[in-house]
Amino acid sequence: MTPTMLVVSLSYLVAAVLFILCLRGLSSPEGARRGLFLGELGMLIAVIGTLLHKDIIRYDWIIAGVVVGSGIGVAISATIPMTKMPERIALSHSFGGLATALVGVAEYLRESDGLTYFQIAALGLETFLGFLTFTGSIMAFGKLQGFISGAPVTWKGQNFLNIGLFIAAVLGIGVLVYDRELHQVFFAIAGTGLALGVMAVLPIGGADMPVVISLLNSYAGLAACATGFALGSQILIISGALDGSSGLLLSLLMSKAMNRSFANILFGAFGTALAPGAASPQLGKGGRSYNEATVEDAGAVLKASQTVIFIPGYGMAVSQAQHAVRDLAASLERRGVEVKYAIHPVAGRMPGHMNVLLAEANVSYDKLFDLDDINDDFARTDAVIVVGANDVVNPAAKKDPSSPIYGMPVFNVEQSRSVIVLKRSMNPGFSGVENELFFQPNTMMVLGDAKKTLLAMISELKEGH
Ligand code: NDP
Repeated sequence: MTPTMLVVSLSYLVAAVLFILCLRGLSSPEGARRGLFLGELGMLIAVIGTLLHKDIIRYDWIIAGVVVGSGIGVAISATIPMTKMPERIALSHSFGGLATALVGVAEYLRESDGLTYFQIAALGLETFLGFLTFTGSIMAFGKLQGFISGAPVTWKGQNFLNIGLFIAAVLGIGVLVYDRELHQVFFAIAGTGLALGVMAVLPIGGADMPVVISLLNSYAGLAACATGFALGSQILIISGALDGSSGLLLSLLMSKAMNRSFANILFGAFGTALAPGAASPQLGKGGRSYNEATVEDAGAVLKASQTVIFIPGYGMAVSQAQHAVRDLAASLERRGVEVKYAIHPVAGRMPGHMNVLLAEANVSYDKLFDLDDINDDFARTDAVIVVGANDVVNPAAKKDPSSPIYGMPVFNVEQSRSVIVLKRSMNPGFSGVENELFFQPNTMMVLGDAKKTLLAMISELKEGH
């Protein structure tokens, strides 16, 4: 081994260790920033190591790629807001999938003769999964962004068709291993990947997209891993395997936190997107009574409270109310109130969504409590402020076996003395299920944009005692 190739191998080893430390760091809010930094450092070292590789004969196209890719990456990061993070991740995965698939096509056309049977199979798998990730991620992005309908699109026999396409691709890879000269089979595998990406995401509701995006992430990882086998690159094998397994674990954790099976998410056509402001089907006719309260009413409750728990949800992200939440918490603390934040594992639209927003507003981590750690505290709490959360505080998940969210662990909010709910209307949340909490006698509905309401509450607290 030449000294340069030794440096390349060492850089891959260091990068692989840094990737593992990155994942470890990302498993807790405290370690997340450090974990991300280590992951970025690992990627930089891996890229520099690769650029030293003996097989690279000219750098002009690589430099052009770096400039264009960095430009797109910086533009995306600078312009897409935090609330659009799932969309942004979907877009990045689509680029990753396309890159992997194109490498597969290029390698097949360049030197399929010199490859082993195993490498040919890996190349076919890489191309199939890469194209599947590409179109699947574009579909997920489109559903979240709204240029493709977020409603599940279903028809009879759909699942059989999708499974048939998958089996056809696997058989195609088998045929290619048998005769690698069958170019039409290779391109049919690529086409099947493109088609399956679209077909597999069509029946999934827009609101389930984060789970799908995480699953597509794991496909992209598997595709990269297969590329590693096809090209004989250890770093691609390791990072692809890490990506593939962590994406799959994340999807499983998300479905567990929603108490839904993977099959239900992938085939259940659940989570039809409701347009903001659309009338609630249950409430339009029912006309049940609830306590609509003013900011002054809520202020009076808070002035009489000693313990307050904030429960942020997706609406906090929509309203970008995290700084106002922190300011209200600070003014309560100045009055001697004990303030905590209850963070549900699937509050918002992606894992850690609330943690990221509250960290951005400099809320200290030791005030954030997970579901299991805080659920017994509600019975001893004077007031709970629900900031744009809905499903994660819905008692139906505990009480109503017929409810689609039955079994999802939720906060025991109804046990606290007073509940102040900040949202814009009586519309249901992501699951489309009516929330019994809003009609309970100890619940006050302060309707309006969460940020505006919180700012008004801060002013209210400032006025007198
Ligand atoms: P929900 O989507 O259940 O409810 C959010 C609420 O926020 C809505 O009822 C909405 O009511 C309100 N809202 C929206 N905009 C504003 C605003 N500007 N000001 C005030 N309120 C606003 O959110 P939760 O966080 O409670 O639950 C998350 C849901 O997402 C769960 O069902 C979970 O299973 C699902 N999910 C979560 C994932 C994750 O990883 N976190 C992944 C996939 C799904 P209104 O329109 O009346 O204002």
